[in-house]
Amino acid sequence: MSAAGDTMTASAVYILLGPPGAGKGTQARMLQDKFGLVQLSTGDLLRAAVKAGTPAGKQAKAVMEEGGLVSDEIVLAILKDRLAEPDVQRGVILDGFPRTTGQAEALDRLLAEAGQKIDAAVSLEVEDAAMVTRISGRYTCAKCGEGYHDTFKQPARAGACDKCGGSDFTRRADDNAETVQTRLDAYHAQTAPLIAYYDRRGVLARVDAMGDIPAIATALGAIVQRISA
Ligand code: ADP
Ligand code: ADP
Ligand code: ZN
Repeated sequence: MSAAGDTMTASAVYILLGPPGAGKGTQARMLQDKFGLVQLSTGDLLRAAVKAGTPAGKQAKAVMEEGGLVSDEIVLAILKDRLAEPDVQRGVILDGFPRTTGQAEALDRLLAEAGQKIDAAVSLEVEDAAMVTRISGRYTCAKCGEGYHDTFKQPARAGACDKCGGSDFTRRADDNAETVQTRLDAYHAQTAPLIAYYDRRGVLARVDAMGDIPAIATALGAIVQRISA
């Protein structure tokens, strides 16, 4: 394995596939804590670029607000930069990437160049009807990024983040009823075909994501444990 340039050096590569609101971020953070893997969310990276006002962020902003997908070119550039950082060597959970066949093929090329492979692509399977409820109740700790939900995941002490004690919470601009349908349409048209893509490569695992957060975490933990054993 090489640590040169933008070479990918992660020792384990897991992909979390699923529609917006499926629980990818929630589960990725739990896997990060439990297995020392690094969550890599292209949504978070893009939001950081928008906030910082970088050229990529400026291009991505309007598309994200409308609920469309940012171009493969921008997403790949942002992802490659992140993969060049040393902490990814512990292994990564790709959360929200890839989202198009073009991105999946680019990832295959990146991994092949580094002599690496995908350990598992896990599809979180949820009904569209649940998405609207999950997305419309979502909020996040502004300080540490821990995710919460108005109904399904409230902090143990009202108004204080369980993880860092922070009292400042944010809601995403795109988490509104208008964009949800656009985002679901983008998922079905452009991302759902990746389930068959990874099935053909023999790395697909399906997890029923209609259950509660701990039950899904147990199912995902078992997959990682089986593969890393
Ligand atoms: P994604 O990263 O796939 O968009 P999130 O992990 O942000 O999804 O979850 C969306 C919202 O739903 C959050 O508010 C989260 O707390 C909540 N949530 C996550 N998993 C579940 C679940 N299994 N049941 C109910 N709510 C959930
Ligand atoms: P969610 O899981 O709720 O859809 P994300 O945080 O993963 O939220 O993504 C938010 C937005 O960022 C998406 O609607 C899209 O505009 C953009 N985005 C994130 N990841 C990608 C990607 N891999 N390719 C294209 N656009 C992306
Ligand atoms: Zn916090």
